[in-house]
Amino acid sequence: LEKSLLMIPGPTPVPDEVLRELARPMINHRSSEYVALQSELVDGLRQAFQTTGDVQVFPASGTGGLEAAVVNVLSPGDRVVAAPVGAFGDRFAEIAEVFGASVRRIETRWGSCVTPEVVASVLEDEPEARALLLTQNETSTGVLNDIQQLAASARAVRPDILILVDAISGMLAADLPVDQWELDVVVAGSQKAWMVPPGLTLVSISARAWEAHATARMPRFYFDFGRMRKSMATGQTPYTPALPQLFALRAALRLIQREGLAACFARHDRLARATRAGVEAMGMRLFADRGCVSPAVTAVVPPLHLSAPELRRHVNHRHGVVLAGGQGRYQDQIFRIGHLGYVSEAEVIATLAALERGLLELGGQVTLGSAVAAAQAELLRPSGAASRSAGAGAEATRG
Ligand SMILES: *Cc1c(COP(=O)(O)O)cnc(C)c1O
Repeated sequence: LEKSLLMIPGPTPVPDEVLRELARPMINHRSSEYVALQSELVDGLRQAFQTTGDVQVFPASGTGGLEAAVVNVLSPGDRVVAAPVGAFGDRFAEIAEVFGASVRRIETRWGSCVTPEVVASVLEDEPEARALLLTQNETSTGVLNDIQQLAASARAVRPDILILVDAISGMLAADLPVDQWELDVVVAGSQKAWMVPPGLTLVSISARAWEAHATARMPRFYFDFGRMRKSMATGQTPYTPALPQLFALRAALRLIQREGLAACFARHDRLARATRAGVEAMGMRLFADRGCVSPAVTAVVPPLHLSAPELRRHVNHRHGVVLAGGQGRYQDQIFRIGHLGYVSEAEVIATLAALERGLLELGGQVTLGSAVAAAQAELLRPSGAASRSAGAGAEATRG
C-alpha cells in the first residue's frame, strides 16, 4: 500500500471539495454564468489581498505573475532596486534585467532577511530608482521578510517608488494588507497557501501602478494589465480563461472566507512553530535566522553525518513523507518542509515522527518521540505575539 504525504512548499495538497471542481463540465466563457463566476472571484480575491483596488487572474504559474508585475509598470532602461534573499528573489531581479531594466541588487546572505535600514540607505543612494522588488516569503530559504517595515522605510525615502512584491508563497500564510501597506503590484500563486492546483497567478494593481502602466514601455501582450482590465469591465477575460482552475479557486476562496484571514494566518503560524520545535528537538538546525523564520516553509540543515538528499529519499521511500530539497547553491545542503495551505496539525506531527525514525534508521542519535513531544507542546501553547500582530490588517479591512 502506498500512501504519501505531500509536505513540500508547493504544489500543496488540495481539499476534496476543491479537487472535485476540476471535473466540472465546461461552460461558455462568454455567458452570464461566467460573469457571475468572475465577479465572485474578484470579490474573494479583494478580501484575500485586503485591497479595494484591482486584482487580476492570469493562467500561468507564479513566475508569469512576476513577469506581469515587471513589464506592466516599467520601461527598458529604468533603474530598479531588487532585494533578493534567495532563489526566487534572484529570479524576480533577473526578469527585470531580461526586459531591459538596470537592476541594483542588494546582496543579502541566504537564510537572513533584508533590513529596512539597508533598503533605505540603498534608495538614498539611488535617486533614479523607479521600483523596488521585494519577496514576502522566500521559499528557497524559509525566510519571511517584514514587508510592512521594508515598504515603510522605502516610502520614507522615496514616496512615489513602485513597490512590487513576490507574495507567491507568503500570501495567506502571513498578513499582507496590500492597501494599508501601500504595495503597488503584489503577486500570488494558486499552488501555495490557496489550496488550488498550480496554474493560476493572482496579481493586485494599485492606483500608482496604473499610473505607471500608462507610460511603461516594456513589451507585453498576454500579460498586459490594460487589456485584462478592459475585458474584465464587461465580466470577461481577453483570452480563454482556465475554467477548471477558476472553479477550483472559487471553492477554495469559500473555504478561506469561512475560516477568516486572521485564523488562516494563525493556523500557519502554529504549524510553523510546531515544525521548528520538532526539528530543533531532533538536534537539527534551522537554516533561517531566528528573527525571520517563515510561517509557510521550514528549511533545515541535516545532521553532519547525513546528506539532505539521503535523508529525504529515505523518509520518502520508507515513510511516505515527501519533503523538498534545497535550491540553487544549497540544493543538497538543506531540506525543506512545506506547511502551507491544506496541511493539518496531525500531518505535521506525522512528518516529524517520520523524520525521527528516518534519522534513527540512518544512524543518528534521536530519542523517539522527542520531536513529536516538542511539537505537541508548542501546539498546546496559545498563539504568540507574532500571530497577534498578524491579522491586525485583516481585522482593519474586514470592517
Ligand atoms: C513558488 C514560488 C515562485 C515561483 O512560482 P512558479 O509557480 O513555480 O512559477 C516564485 N516565488 C516564490 C516566493 C515562490 O514560492
